Amino acid sequence: MATTGSSLSGSVSAGNTVIDIEKVTKVYQTGDVTVHALRGVDLKIDRGEFVAVMGASGSGKSTLMNILGGLDYPTAGEYRLDGEPISRLDSDGLARIRNRTLGFVFQSFNLLSRTSALENVELPLLYGDIPARERHHRAAEALSQVGLANRMDHHPNQMSGGQQQRVAIARALVTRPKVILADEPTGNLDSETSVEVMTLFQELWRGGITIVLVTHEPDVAAFAGRVVNMKDGRVKSDRRQGARDAREALAVAIAQRQQEQSEEAEHADGAHKEAG
Ligand code: ADP
Ligand code: MG
Repeated sequence: MATTGSSLSGSVSAGNTVIDIEKVTKVYQTGDVTVHALRGVDLKIDRGEFVAVMGASGSGKSTLMNILGGLDYPTAGEYRLDGEPISRLDSDGLARIRNRTLGFVFQSFNLLSRTSALENVELPLLYGDIPARERHHRAAEALSQVGLANRMDHHPNQMSGGQQQRVAIARALVTRPKVILADEPTGNLDSETSVEVMTLFQELWRGGITIVLVTHEPDVAAFAGRVVNMKDGRVKSDRRQGARDAREALAVAIAQRQQEQSEEAEHADGAHKEAG
């Protein structure tokens, strides 16, 4: 894919740090094997940024995301999430700031397959004391936001991969988070569906949500406004860029596919006439 076309930036002006990690390390000890998954990472992310985290397999991307998500503590170093040093929170405090601040999207969707899209999206609200009517209303609103207003009663196992990932994004949105953390959200999707999902992330970005998205595909990272490259548990490079417009890219991809399909059809038709 070429990286031509217009570029975007988010709607929120920078200057307000929402994620701030300093000298973070993570050491895993399994038996007598010691793995230094993070070797001193500094990363500041401002409100309204869209950051792609890239790097080879094993470079520490998921470890970093787990720490950013408050799912794991660093071995050393400091992490301030929305101004709060998480090292000083107990697990309840951590759960509270996580629910208030973060939404998660995973590569494998992590949906309950025999439960309706609406109920899947309502799940994160069950932990608050939100009345059932309000839960339905907010889940329906989130599903509309991802273009699935007419699929609320469908079960994930009746949906395409792209639709399932949109349900998962709605589930991340329903708590109205400031930050969405997405670990390889397009890893199980074909390239056109990946671009479609990226149009959604860019819409959320335009709406002011901060996004941190892990990917190993440069084509996907091109849609972010900043690219952080990891290598061997360290940040190897960190640069801002004009983001490629995913809606434009999607239009190009669709036109290309239609062109190929019509050429194939003509070819098949020609072969048919020759044979007949
Ligand atoms: P990436 O997501 O970039 O592929 P990870 O963060 O998953 O990388 O892994 C970084 C390193 O830490 C790898 O060497 C991996 O094997 C190791 N690692 C990750 N999680 C664990 C764990 N729970 N226990 C032991 N080692 C782990
Ligand atoms: Mg990973």
